[in-house]
Amino acid sequence: MPTKKKDVEENTPPTTGMLAKSRETLRAACERLNIHPDVFEELKGPRETLAATLLIRMDDGSRRAFQSWRCRYNDRRGPTKGGVRFHPNVSLDEIETLSFWMTFKCAVANLPFGGGKGGVCVDTKTLSANELERLSRAYVEAFAPFIGPDRDILAPDMYTNGIVIAWMADQYSWISGQASPSAITGKPLAFGGTNGRVDATARGGYYALRYLETALALDPNTATVAIQGFGNVGFHCAKLLHADGYKIVAISDSAGGIYDPSGLDPLAVMQHKHETGGVKGAKGQGKTKEISNAELLELDCDVLVPAALERQITLENCDRINARIILEMANGPVSPEADKKLTEAGQIIVPDILANSGGVTVSHLEWVQNRSGFYWDSSRVRDHLKTTMETETQSIWTLHNEMELSMRDAAYIHGLRRIAESVEARGTPAYFEGS
Ligand code: NAD
Repeated sequence: MPTKKKDVEENTPPTTGMLAKSRETLRAACERLNIHPDVFEELKGPRETLAATLLIRMDDGSRRAFQSWRCRYNDRRGPTKGGVRFHPNVSLDEIETLSFWMTFKCAVANLPFGGGKGGVCVDTKTLSANELERLSRAYVEAFAPFIGPDRDILAPDMYTNGIVIAWMADQYSWISGQASPSAITGKPLAFGGTNGRVDATARGGYYALRYLETALALDPNTATVAIQGFGNVGFHCAKLLHADGYKIVAISDSAGGIYDPSGLDPLAVMQHKHETGGVKGAKGQGKTKEISNAELLELDCDVLVPAALERQITLENCDRINARIILEMANGPVSPEADKKLTEAGQIIVPDILANSGGVTVSHLEWVQNRSGFYWDSSRVRDHLKTTMETETQSIWTLHNEMELSMRDAAYIHGLRRIAESVEARGTPAYFEGS
């Protein structure tokens, strides 16, 4: 059967303008901080983005095309680093925006990496395991010249779990003709992964929140939490907070959610999800009722944890968001317009580039261990993650107070200062004028 070119077009959603908005935020931050215009000039667009159509053989013998991208946004602080997302709504604009955010996230976490990201327009639920393997390997084949431990390092993201990453790492080693574990992080332990990576993103956000407890007047014994998204990040976040006494009152996934003011046990909800495919129908401590994702976001709770997709809180619903604190575990769950209104209303948003930076922080440790050939135990990984999260959270909280900025602006400025230093270290106009 001939290739269905139409599939590629149909799977490619229109651009969302997110990168343009992020660029405007950056421009404002550069002006406010009096950062040299060279820095904005360098950061206003991605260094390079590749697009590829991945053509794979389906189990029924037909061929199908999938649109895919890989972006290296900026590599001043080191090789680009970022996940690969498999999702039907992935677009070029989204990938470039996510790479832009990764550039700042790596700087916020003080890692020797720049920002990158990749994605494939695909609904993985419609693929067999064999088709998913072919697609994962095809992605690496298409972008192999772009990838490398000192160039561009891949990682998991939405719907790219351990086995997908293992196929990708295996394919990269085949292509490069040698074991190259440090080109891809998030690998299974037996394949050069690190202890502590599975829950690292959630754990990082948990350390940040716990560090801010006093400042935010949060009492774990009484605080209530609603979690949108019950995949890797949402589940582990729920589990860690629940173990410390926080009451998880609502959980959702792509099919909808459940609410129980008496509390939900994340392990029991996950067990139910394993058995039935979703969280709906799971029972909590009291009268559990089903709610939609939109209703979950609007619940009256202390901490709302968006851990699914971007743009879940926008101008359309931000007036109905009742949570006092939003811990952004997903990337970009709050639109810039909604962010402004919520901040003006006094709600605290712990921004994604801080809250979910635990994943890339531990990925960095995986890269370090792969290169040195010496592997760490879980407690060493966790100690390092805790120290990093607390150090950067403290710096951002201080900036937030001293400069009277939102936590997001403070985090961007914190990262921007580091990126600016690395740009300026290569010479500024003042240097050249003086020579
Ligand atoms: P995942 O694929 O493991 O889980 C995603 C979850 O979101 C699933 O439970 C899915 O059902 C749910 N979901 C999808 N659409 C939804 C919708 N419309 N409403 C509610 N729930 C929905 O992904 P993950 O690794 O947990 O990543 C979640 C978010 O965290 C993403 O934004 C990702 O970019 C971000 N993130 C992940 C990592 C990581 O290490 N995994 C690191 C940094 C950021």
